[in-house]
Amino acid sequence: MKKFIFVTGGVVSSLGKGIASASIGALLESHGYKVTFLKFDPYINVDPGTMSPFQHGEVYVTEDGAETDLDLGHYERFTNAKMTHKNNATSGQIYYSVIQKERKGEYLGKTVQVVPHVTNEIKERIFALKKEGDIIITEIGGTVGDIESLPFLEAIRQIQITLPEEDTIHIHLTLVPYIKAADEIKTKPTQHSVGRLREIGIQPKILLCRTEKPLTDEIKEKIALFCNVKKEAVIEAIDTDLIYEIPLIFARQKLDLILLKYLNLKKNPKNDLEKWREIVYILRNPEKEVKIGVVGKYIKLQDSYKSIYEALIHGGIANKCRVIFEKVDSELIEKEGAEKFLKDVSGIIVPGGFGIRGTEGIIEGIKYARENKIPFLGICLGLQCASIEFARNVCGLKDASSTEFNPRTKNPVIYLLPEQRRIKEKGGTMRLGAYPCVLKKGTISYNAYKRKIIYERHRHRYEFNNKYREIFEKNGMVIAGIYPEKDLVEIIELKNHPFFVATQFHPEFKSKPFKPHPLFSEFIKASCQFKD
Ligand code: GLN
Repeated sequence: MKKFIFVTGGVVSSLGKGIASASIGALLESHGYKVTFLKFDPYINVDPGTMSPFQHGEVYVTEDGAETDLDLGHYERFTNAKMTHKNNATSGQIYYSVIQKERKGEYLGKTVQVVPHVTNEIKERIFALKKEGDIIITEIGGTVGDIESLPFLEAIRQIQITLPEEDTIHIHLTLVPYIKAADEIKTKPTQHSVGRLREIGIQPKILLCRTEKPLTDEIKEKIALFCNVKKEAVIEAIDTDLIYEIPLIFARQKLDLILLKYLNLKKNPKNDLEKWREIVYILRNPEKEVKIGVVGKYIKLQDSYKSIYEALIHGGIANKCRVIFEKVDSELIEKEGAEKFLKDVSGIIVPGGFGIRGTEGIIEGIKYARENKIPFLGICLGLQCASIEFARNVCGLKDASSTEFNPRTKNPVIYLLPEQRRIKEKGGTMRLGAYPCVLKKGTISYNAYKRKIIYERHRHRYEFNNKYREIFEKNGMVIAGIYPEKDLVEIIELKNHPFFVATQFHPEFKSKPFKPHPLFSEFIKASCQFKD
């Protein structure tokens, strides 16, 4: 029997619904269940691929090349679930397929309506995941009360009444604010939020209450009474600076056992969360600290480089080291130089990005890393800018650039392949998802992965121009990884530098706290050694 958990959020956005859902998945996995996830995003874009990082935050890329919501990153990092395009759907996607079906005449002349046609489409997406797990955790993006999320809420309401009682459960994540002037914790917003859900026919059975102060028994009783849930199911989701502690925080309040009881599932008496305790212990009690400069063009937005920050933290776990971020907006480097921002760091990372803005600052930052022999990890745009920097400042090719930055660039170092130039549709030229890469023996990358063939996820349009390989190699660059089918450069490294690695792909998407990505582990290791 398949079980369905629905997670909604109330009062305000950004309460951490994605991490809460991922943590629930982790707890259920610890009891031996196979979990999978579905994230619904109530916006009209078909996917976040075309949205600005400032609008959306990170676009998380799955193995099969879907551009998805960053919550899928949390799901993959917290559990063994493997995400594909099936695990994220937007309103745009749902409506798109309803309209396509309508055009094909599949509704047999009926008036096509939100209920039942759109809601059926939503339900189909949920049921399509039955094959992928014992428990399907569906997270509805947005906040209860939004116009946009109504069809999703209606769909999950319908599922609940059509399935046996113990097969579905609604969990609501809400805010219980502390009001300083009154020195009190307030339950009213939660009451209102649950009230809104009940108006549309959804009675949550479990409340996860985001709070900065512990909830007293009295408060829990009050929430339980007014929101019509059992007191045991009022779970305190206290603020923490460590997201990997959240499964433990929930488990301490027996959330796993409550869920299993409501879903009529057996618990695993041997279940233990030792591996979570271990990583939390390392993160709380590191042996050392390292400061990493993150030089990017979307620094201002907290969520733009989510997986990068997590992967760096994982690299820290592998080295029993706390990673401190020095976030540097590359446009500031353009104005004030790299030294000012990067003089104290022991490692520099350049994450991905699109468009010319800020790239000169990135290039300057990379020059600083190269010249001062500071460990460097460049990702996608990071590889592209590192190649341009190398061409300009090592090979003496002053005008070197990318056609992305200047379409009229003569002899671009980074360019569109001839076959890409023929495709006119925007987005049609993207290389997305996992591709194989063959590593060269003896390189930093080969020694990190300890394997010859790796699979990593891509999300980019531009490629390294092979015309430059020879001159680059002559000047001390190592082509460490190749996509064999098209002979494309995937990894570059530098000789005469302790750790200079840049990849065309995004290794950060595959890093997990329990399985730190080898490039990130080695990068942090090299950074720890930098100041010694
Ligand atoms: N803008 C570059 C490209 O499209 C790099 C993309 C990225 O960093 N993911 O190729």
